[in-house]
Amino acid sequence: MKRSFEASHDDRPESSFKTAELGVTCREPPCMNVYLPIELYQCHIEQYHDNRCVECGKNLVTESFLRLHLEEMHNPFNSGNGVRYSCFEDQCDEKFCSHQERISHAVKCHQYPENFHFDIVQNGQPFN
Ligand SMILES: [Zn+2]
Ligand SMILES: [Zn+2]
Ligand SMILES: [Zn+2]
Repeated sequence: MKRSFEASHDDRPESSFKTAELGVTCREPPCMNVYLPIELYQCHIEQYHDNRCVECGKNLVTESFLRLHLEEMHNPFNSGNGVRYSCFEDQCDEKFCSHQERISHAVKCHQYPENFHFDIVQNGQPFN
């Protein structure tokens, strides 16, 4: 379908304060007043806020990454040496002595892409 652009000077700015049309303003950090259509809200919460670390606020995206993150970064019994790195996959019981070993395992045995953002366990998902 072709659109006609003639005489269409209707470039009013999107109102960010429009509340009528089924939208939600997300006030959770780090969003701080991001406006979302209501149908995207649930998925937004799941993606950006459900699996956020309560200790440091990082977004771990999935429950399993959050669990690994808590275990490796915030478990007082794990500080110093003796940290065991569990596999990213819930169903896999492998443990590793280093994060690097775990990455090779994930690539080899679970077909993770080599450019997967493995540091997500330590750093969380960069928010943009
Ligand atoms: Zn949000
Ligand atoms: Zn954390
Ligand atoms: Zn594994």
